[in-house]
Amino acid sequence: MNLLKIFEQSSVGKKFWLFIHPYVYISVKKKHAILYNALNGFFLEYRDDPCMLDLLKRLNSDKSLYVIGVKPDALTPKLLDFVGKLRNSFSGDIMEARDEDKKPINFKPIPSIQKSLEDLTTTEKKSKQLAKDNIQEYLNILSLFLTSKCNQNCKLCSHAFKQCMHCYSKKGTVSELPLKSIEKLLNDTRSSNLSKLNILGGNIFNYSRLIELVRMLNDNNLKKEYFVHIKHLADHCSELELLSGGNCRVNVLIHFSEWFQGTTETIQKLQKIGLEINLHFLVEEEANLEEIEIFLNKVPELSEHIHLVPFYNGKNIDFFKEVVFLTQESIAGAQPSMKEIFSRQTINSMCFKHLFVRWDGAVFSNMNHKKIGDIHSNSIYMIMDKELNKGHSWTKLRKNVTPCKSCPFHALCPPIDNYEYVLKRYNLCHIM
Ligand code: SF4
Ligand code: SF4
Repeated sequence: MNLLKIFEQSSVGKKFWLFIHPYVYISVKKKHAILYNALNGFFLEYRDDPCMLDLLKRLNSDKSLYVIGVKPDALTPKLLDFVGKLRNSFSGDIMEARDEDKKPINFKPIPSIQKSLEDLTTTEKKSKQLAKDNIQEYLNILSLFLTSKCNQNCKLCSHAFKQCMHCYSKKGTVSELPLKSIEKLLNDTRSSNLSKLNILGGNIFNYSRLIELVRMLNDNNLKKEYFVHIKHLADHCSELELLSGGNCRVNVLIHFSEWFQGTTETIQKLQKIGLEINLHFLVEEEANLEEIEIFLNKVPELSEHIHLVPFYNGKNIDFFKEVVFLTQESIAGAQPSMKEIFSRQTINSMCFKHLFVRWDGAVFSNMNHKKIGDIHSNSIYMIMDKELNKGHSWTKLRKNVTPCKSCPFHALCPPIDNYEYVLKRYNLCHIM
């Protein structure tokens, strides 16, 4: 029935119930409010509109549970327009109140997550609730930097690993993770939810126990992702077969400033070995995209294995504004589900359950932050407990940082990512 009919047929003076469906998310901040339908991506935004902001605030309050009473004289053209949009997008509706005292039952979505995790980000006192949870559940991915050894001298060595999965070395230090320590780590995490290992260097082919390590890793079912710089690949192509077998993939790291004659041929050799591969191109400017196109014309069969990774070099902010910064369309267009919206208010899923172990045993929850422990002197679960209760990465949320905490998009936007730490600002967006 169209809206006008509802009003014509309603008894004079009768109140209406305005309601929102439970799969709709509303957020109101000072002078800015949004309404987002998680089922179909429908999106409404109001800025500097006190009347609509007040209405959305009332609808969203815990007391009203997404249903409010509206007197007929409040049904202004603006409100009718709003109700029409709600109806057309299946986001809500209006109905005549048969009994003005009996408010219809509606369910406002409320996050249903482990209580302890919620406490971690919503209470001042990060309590010891976690003891009640099973700490082993909070480990999915381990990234192991096997060795600091590398004889290359890439310009981006001290930066790239802070932005994406990338090798790095520290000049003047030669260190490697003892095989025994890796074995112990894998034994200790046998009862955890660990499902993937990332293996990086330095140059992993310089790791003195590589053959034994690969054998040991191939004895278990974990997914193995090896990260190899294209220059290492050129020098160690004959050793690549070593990595084959046992649920693994080789990720080749390619940077245009390190592009050398023979890069394409090296990759073609890799294909012949029959290993599953991904090519990660670090992209700094638009010209790089054209170069990738030229490369793909030579090896079109690899187009599905290409990953474009924006790389911030300190000078290409305009490129980042173009390709990385969020817009209202990209945020709503990504159509986050209600589950994702709630999870974004509780944990940082970009790095949650992921730990990095450096060649000297230092453990990090994010390579942009300080170390949180050391596998030579702490148990892995003690380190995880520390990260959950006192850490700065797994629970780093937009709702707690400026300016995102004052922005109604904070739960719709993807979680805080490495680029934000590197650029030292949380609003990589065109909104605030
Ligand atoms: S190959 Fe990797 S580890 Fe070696 S210098 Fe380059 S970025 Fe650093
Ligand atoms: S990044 Fe922050 S400021 Fe920008 S839209 Fe998202 S929540 Fe708002």
